[in-house]
Amino acid sequence: MSSDIAAESTAEIKVDPLNVRSGPGLSHEQVGQVHKGESYPVVKQQGNWVQIRMDSKKGWVAKWLVDVTGNVTKAEVTSDVDRLRIRSGPGTSHDILGHMNKGTSYLKLGEQEEWVRIDFKNDEGWVHKDYISVTAVASSASQTEEKIVQVENLNVRENPSLSAEVIDQLDKGVTVKVISEKGNWSNISYNDQEGWVASKFIDESPPDSLNEDKNETDSSEPVQQTKGTVTVQTPILNVRSEGTLGSQVINQVNQGDELTFLQEKEAWYQVKLDNGQTGWVANWLVEKGDVSESSSKKWITLLYNATNIRKGPGTDTAIVGRANMGDQFTVKSHNNQWYEIEYENGTGYVADWIVANSQTDIQQMSKKEEALNNEVIVIDAGHGGRDVGTIGHDNFYEKKLTLKTAQRLAERLRLAGAKVVLTRTGDKYLSLSSRATMSNMKGADAFLSLHYNSFPQSPSVSGIGTYYYHKRDRDFAQTVQRAMIQSTALHNREARYGDYHVIRENSQPALLLELGFLSNPQEAATVRTKDFQEKITKGIAKGVIEYLNK
Ligand SMILES: [Zn+2]
Repeated sequence: MSSDIAAESTAEIKVDPLNVRSGPGLSHEQVGQVHKGESYPVVKQQGNWVQIRMDSKKGWVAKWLVDVTGNVTKAEVTSDVDRLRIRSGPGTSHDILGHMNKGTSYLKLGEQEEWVRIDFKNDEGWVHKDYISVTAVASSASQTEEKIVQVENLNVRENPSLSAEVIDQLDKGVTVKVISEKGNWSNISYNDQEGWVASKFIDESPPDSLNEDKNETDSSEPVQQTKGTVTVQTPILNVRSEGTLGSQVINQVNQGDELTFLQEKEAWYQVKLDNGQTGWVANWLVEKGDVSESSSKKWITLLYNATNIRKGPGTDTAIVGRANMGDQFTVKSHNNQWYEIEYENGTGYVADWIVANSQTDIQQMSKKEEALNNEVIVIDAGHGGRDVGTIGHDNFYEKKLTLKTAQRLAERLRLAGAKVVLTRTGDKYLSLSSRATMSNMKGADAFLSLHYNSFPQSPSVSGIGTYYYHKRDRDFAQTVQRAMIQSTALHNREARYGDYHVIRENSQPALLLELGFLSNPQEAATVRTKDFQEKITKGIAKGVIEYLNK
């Protein structure tokens, strides 16, 4: 993701003082300061950060607080000979760092007399001019430009038009690459995705409140009283402008970071970062340090928009209301995978697999799951009624677990925007042909028959597999299989052809999923955990969404 721009360009500092950091981001430690009006050679650029060379060291500054000028042509240095020496400095007295063979190329960073400076394995190296060729790769004009989203929920569209389909939404503060422009529209790329956004909503500088690196030193900010410390428990934790999930992300901190907090409000801590910035972090993603436990009140936070609040603890009970991602509720009790919560002066229930609590990773809040548009998905919980399916080593019935998985998957796909139809919602017998017929009648965009496997002759057999009957469904099968394995890390039994009635007699895209072996004692225990059910349904949903968006 780095866009290396060759040196001989300089960065002129626009603010006083400006922090220099060890890496390209606000979360990297401060390694120095530079001052307004000073100029430094640019080593390279990455995202919205510029690496500059100071006397003896290098460091990163925010691009939006400097002016980069000069020759920003990207050039590559290609060796004309084998075993060309790469030295640590411009002269034969410097150490040899490595060699370049004929035809190998590295990015040019600069030059000095007879020597050319190259980017060698993320460090600098020097090679002699006589043995190389230099080729310009791209001019600054065609360089992809990075910009930052200025508004919340910026629509990304398939084409440069207001009537084009919205394929994603971006958060304020997100960095995108501008590939090209057309009228008032910009063609952008981000996270391997591509689309069009209205150009007026993206800019080179971050939105005002993200502009935190000006570092007003002698500011007369009142001294706030320290209340204790918390330690970050998740790989990346967003620091927000306010104590709500919807508020702006102003910084990020990493797992293990210890933060000083100033106050505690509902499910949030107001923390002070090393750079003096204050912001809010979710209390379920940090652990409080040596301070005595204060509030024993339990909270949950919803992970999805339009989450159903129900009358009782089950998906078959009435919906009493809906709430959105980031909404928080006080927990009254927690039983059988349902939270009883305080809801509109009374009580409501919400399924625990779609909320975050103190143990849940915020990464679950994947917006990408909100990516369907009323596609019809038929979910078939295998077996039912007198057909119990496989009987596990401990007399556990397959039909029970397939229903549970089907219900979770249904809830997840509905939240993603699909129209979900379940072939059965209770412990009911259904013929194989009626299952396939339901798919055909509904004109399903996808049909998934869920099963758990058994091979008692060899209890060590394990893993997840996907079956397709019609060749047209092979890609679908591979996509879902890949996503399930990624999500669960169970043994990969691959996507393969299988002659099963429910997929053979299906005129719609149809798969039969075998989600683990109940005959394997260890795997039988795993697949029944909430954690596995969470992961497997997440994986299936991801695969289906990916397939339907192809
Ligand atoms: Zn089965």
